[in-house]
Amino acid sequence: MLQSCSKSLFSSLSTFPQRSTPALTSLGAQRCRRWYSIHADHATERLLEIDPTRLSITKTTTPKELLAPKDLIFGHTFTDHMLSLEWTASDGWLAPRITPYQNLSLDPATCVFHYAFTAFEGMKAYKDSKGQCRIFRPDRNMRRLNKSAARIALPAFDGNAFIDLIGKLVKLDNHFIPSERGYSLYLRPTIIGTQRTLGVGPPGSALLYVIASPVGPYYPTGFKAVSLEATDYAVRAWPGGVGDMKLGANYAPCIVPQMQAASRGFHQNLWLFGEEEYITEVGTMNLFVAVKDPQTGEKELITAPLDGTILEGVTRDSVLELARERLVPKGWKVSERKYTMAELAKAAEEDRVLEVFGSGTAAVISPVRKISWKGNLVQCGLPDDVEVGPIAQQMKDWIEEIQYGDIDHPWSVVVS
Ligand SMILES: *Cc1c(COP(=O)(O)O)cnc(C)c1O
Repeated sequence: MLQSCSKSLFSSLSTFPQRSTPALTSLGAQRCRRWYSIHADHATERLLEIDPTRLSITKTTTPKELLAPKDLIFGHTFTDHMLSLEWTASDGWLAPRITPYQNLSLDPATCVFHYAFTAFEGMKAYKDSKGQCRIFRPDRNMRRLNKSAARIALPAFDGNAFIDLIGKLVKLDNHFIPSERGYSLYLRPTIIGTQRTLGVGPPGSALLYVIASPVGPYYPTGFKAVSLEATDYAVRAWPGGVGDMKLGANYAPCIVPQMQAASRGFHQNLWLFGEEEYITEVGTMNLFVAVKDPQTGEKELITAPLDGTILEGVTRDSVLELARERLVPKGWKVSERKYTMAELAKAAEEDRVLEVFGSGTAAVISPVRKISWKGNLVQCGLPDDVEVGPIAQQMKDWIEEIQYGDIDHPWSVVVS
């Protein structure tokens, strides 16, 4: 049973069209093996289709009391409603439903509990000065969730139709979003395999749902620069692995290293990779480093390349695009390239580190003060009495003015 299931999974995987795939026939003959990430894309038209016109809405009869904005804690409270869609291998996506926020009821043998058939997204909706709701770059999150889902043999879906439905949920629960600047509605799309089976194989049924949590500013009293522990004893992601996807299975194993870093007084892990100690990401954020070239003095903004070990952050992409558009004309170089912890430490020693910051949906931008590495503290360019560098501040301002609709920009999608 087990064998036949995994065999069929394997054979269906091998038929996926793949991007950046080395010629499989020559793999065995190559002296140097090239790892690659599988980007599965196996949905047939029929199974992918979501029909937003079939949406049913059941409103709650017991609306929750709204918390005072200042009492909101990230991810602790949820709105009145949720959006759900069920999928079966025989019928594809069934009619979407918005219902009161409620518990799921699943058989203890459901495959998600045993084999981690779960992937998620993190995105935000904002209220602009006219009271309209806006979602930031939702197409990116849909593309990423499809990529994650397909990699664990869960069904793909039509991202635009799903954005439409998310808009309906946001609109229905929009009174949960405080109007004050800095507040937003964190949206958590999740997809799980729901087949009741201990067999290891592609789930024959799935559930796609969205819950929403009103959140306050990540730094309510202004930026607080964090300190990191360069982590070399545990590895978050590796070539040919799945670290470039938001699979639930990637996150639980990071908590113990995070607790260990915290016990030594550091906020987050700085995940290193390989003998070379390449800098990859920080906690669940991408990392940017701004340094000066030792010879020319040219300023360079660096982040790790998307080589399969890096989560393709929407905020990362936004920082890169804005930097190319607005910093390059001012003489900056913008690089997606590999760089090592030794390289950063050397730059710090030579006083060439301008600033370091993380990027992610929750905080948008998170400045870094120092990094513990091999028993030393690498200082990241911030004077003692300063919590944020100029580029980090500029990026946060540029991104937020788009998110809150202060300026018109294609990245901000108004919920109609
Ligand atoms: C979600 C996530 C990020 C940030 O992605 P955004 O789309 O910018 O929120 C970075 N790294 C990891 C490991 C993540 O899970």
